[in-house]
Amino acid sequence: MKALVYTAPHEMTIMQQPDPVAGENEVVVKIDAVGICGSDMHAYQGHDARRLPPLVLGHEICGTVTSDKHKGRRVILNPLISCNRCYYCETGRPNICSDRTMIGMTRPGGYADAVSIPEQCLVFVADDMDPVAAALTEPAATGLHGLVLATRVMARPIAEARTLVIGAGSVGLLTALLLKHQGCEHIHIAETNELRQGPARAAGFSQVFNPIETLVDESSFDLVIDCVGSQKTREMSMFAAAPGSVFLHIGLMDNNGGLDARKMTLAEIIMIGAYTYTQADLGVAAQKLYSGAYGSLDWVETRHLDEGPETFSALLRGEIAAPKVVLTP
Ligand SMILES: [Zn+2]
Ligand SMILES: [Zn+2]
Repeated sequence: MKALVYTAPHEMTIMQQPDPVAGENEVVVKIDAVGICGSDMHAYQGHDARRLPPLVLGHEICGTVTSDKHKGRRVILNPLISCNRCYYCETGRPNICSDRTMIGMTRPGGYADAVSIPEQCLVFVADDMDPVAAALTEPAATGLHGLVLATRVMARPIAEARTLVIGAGSVGLLTALLLKHQGCEHIHIAETNELRQGPARAAGFSQVFNPIETLVDESSFDLVIDCVGSQKTREMSMFAAAPGSVFLHIGLMDNNGGLDARKMTLAEIIMIGAYTYTQADLGVAAQKLYSGAYGSLDWVETRHLDEGPETFSALLRGEIAAPKVVLTP
């Protein structure tokens, strides 16, 4: 089969790879659409010690099962493969299983004609679901999972909460769109890349601004969602968070700095780290995408897998405005 292989830092190569073979309790899925994730870009730059070349990256996958079992069913894939035995798996939190592995990391991912995957990772969607929309399930579920955790501890209902979303890439944009769908009326979006602001503006949020030019209002948000996760954005989050607010940390850009423990304590700010999603979150996100809850998805750019090498370098140069590029084999 044909695959787009990460062959060296800053190098993606279209090449032939062996066809995937289903192991025990596994199926083979023909890829219909696969999104390019920020973590794939991170690996492409040689910055991810867990994703080493040569490797087929890609974990935001919609496809069609070709193995006998479930043959012909349209699916999205849960890229996290959890152990099913540990305390976290048994209590419904497989996303923090310490034995988990991941496609596009510890085994080949989706930038290819096909992939093999444990059957437990299949999330069935409507057979007529648009594969490009379905490929957004993974980033959509990341935001949805975070909102599920935040809603449990928020003092105000989502509809009334003054919310700040930092970063208008696909996770930030999809999270903001879900908040809007849930009736939230005060959604402010901070995004430094002017190209990226377009889709957020089109969605009609309360404010879309560049935080380098416009200072965020101090202590004025009930929910702050950091979809970037850098020292700078954590600093901004701390500054923006109101007393009694929730700070939802989703982005993983860097590890340290930016938290204000004194303000968090004096103002009783609840910080939540949210990582990925459960199988149920993926199912709900796919259903919401299918039903149109996220509105028009015309901000997604679709390219052919063969254009992968050029697409990765264009993304790195910041030349692509779309918050999400989806490749189709
Ligand atoms: Zn991803
Ligand atoms: Zn486990």
